[in-house]
Parts: sequence; structure tokens; C-alpha cells
Amino acid sequence: MIQTILSQAVEAARPAAELGQTATYIPELGKMDKHHLGACVFTWEGERCCAGDTDVRFSIQSISKVISLAAALELCGYDTVFERVGMEPSGEAFNAMGKLEAVGSTPSNPMINAGAIAVDSYLEPKISFEEMLSFTRKLCMDPQIVLDEKVYHSEMSHISRNRAIAYLLENTGVIRSDVERTLDFYVRMCSLSITAESLAGLGLVLAGDGVHPATGERLLSPDTVRVVKTIMLTCGMYDGSGTFAVQVGIPSKSGVGGGILSVVDGRMGIGIFGPALDGKGNSVAGIQVLRTLSRELHLHIFDPSEHR
Ligand code: GLU
Repeated sequence: MIQTILSQAVEAARPAAELGQTATYIPELGKMDKHHLGACVFTWEGERCCAGDTDVRFSIQSISKVISLAAALELCGYDTVFERVGMEPSGEAFNAMGKLEAVGSTPSNPMINAGAIAVDSYLEPKISFEEMLSFTRKLCMDPQIVLDEKVYHSEMSHISRNRAIAYLLENTGVIRSDVERTLDFYVRMCSLSITAESLAGLGLVLAGDGVHPATGERLLSPDTVRVVKTIMLTCGMYDGSGTFAVQVGIPSKSGVGGGILSVVDGRMGIGIFGPALDGKGNSVAGIQVLRTLSRELHLHIFDPSEHR
């Protein structure tokens, strides 16, 4: 039943790609075919349903902020992470910097660029990129994940805005470690090459409170996963998070590579790939697929319990 609904949802959402554009501010991302669309659902019972372009590799971009936040909570602790980064929706674009200038101001949350760069500055001295890569492969249940060198170099040569944000954060005392090393770590994490299936795998681990569904291995603590899922719900879809919470109601995180990671607590992980983005940076067709799945499968976090 899930497979049928998923396949129909993907086919029905395909035309929506015409309404969006790929992210051209990182030139390599602008080269993607905006008509790709794929969606995967992995359930806790072991069902794996996929429709459309689910094995095409694309750039994880901001969805890596979920992984970095989780790793930082594990390695640095909750108090360090949230001492100088907030947990409030910003209501602003993901790369906004206006509010950061004031003395004593801190990034609104770890899902926007400023917050994620700050979190990476706490994390980077404690773990190497190679270790983060193996951790990501485990969390996503995908040993094929690699760094996309072309995307990495493309983003590094268009890094001015994030560099400005990072130095502003250093100036206001939010970042206290090496800014250039932090930026390099941040961009590497954003340049990991994944598929919709990798995102469904990650979603399933989060849906299971941090336990690998096949091996039973605990990869993240329940406390970490609770924080991560809550912040995904309130801040994961850029400045479209409120509308998405009402209309879809599934903790999710999107990236400008066209991915969306969604977590249906205790039940399933969902991964989407659709690189045509709306004005806020979210996959247009991807959101449409999720709206259909939420409605047809009763996945909204506040759906009446008799439907779940
Ligand atoms: N690497 C991108 C940036 O820093 C991530 C943006 C995103 O996916 O939201 O601009």
C-alpha cells in the first residue's frame, strides 16, 4: 500500500518542478537537472519503498546540519552547543546575517548557516572530517557516501557570504576556534554526495531514537535524537518551517541540493530528492510529495491517534 501511494505521489508531483529552480549560487549545484524527483520510505518493520530517481547521487547541503548537530551534542554536550547558539526559528533566510551584528547576539538556531557554522566550530576540534564521513555512512546506512570534490571546490570558491558570517561570529565571541578550518569542515560536510535512499536510512535511525534498525547498534543517544527532531520540526524547512509544520507535520530538514530528510517517529524514515527549489530553498515537488504522503498515510505528528 505504501508503495502504491508513494509512486502515485511522485508522479503527481513531477510537474511542480517547473515552478522551481536549482540553486545557482553554488555553480555546481546549478548544473543539476531540475526535473529529477525521487522518494523513498523505509519502515521500522523492514519495508523499503522507492519511487522515481532514488539512486541518483546529489549534494546533502544543509541536511548535514542535522548530522553535525547530533555529533556535537554527543561529543561537546548540550550546554556547550546551546551556550552561544539558540533554538528559535529565525523567520529569516538560511544565509541571513543581519541580526548577527549586534553585540551579544547569537545565531537563532543550528539549522541556519550561522548556527551550523558555530556548531561546527565546537565540533571540528574534536573529530576529523574522515571520522564524520564514516559516521555519516553509518547513520545513513550507505557505505557509498563520498565527498563530491566538484561541489566542494565550487562552494569554496563562492564562500564570501559564509566567510563573512563566520568572521562576524568570531568577532562577537560565538566562534573561538580557527575560522578557516571551521569553514572548510562546514563546506566538506555540505558537499557529501548522497541519495534519497541514504536520507530514508538516516530518517529511520532518527525515527528509532538513534538505534540502527538492522543491527540494533545504538548510534546516537535518545536525548540527542529528541533535541535534533524537535529542532527539525521547528526550524528544519528554512523560513517555511511553520507552514510546513501545519501542512505536513513531519520533522524534516531540507537542503539546497534538493534533498529533504523526514522522520515519522517510531515508524519510518523518508528521503526525497527534487532539485527544483522554491524561493525559500525547499524542494517544490518534494514538499508536494510529503503533503500527499502525510495526508494519505496519516503521518502528521498531530493526526488523531485512531488514524495512526
Ligand atoms: N552549503 C550551503 C550554504 O552554506 C548550504 C545551504 C543549504 O542547503 O541551506 O549556503
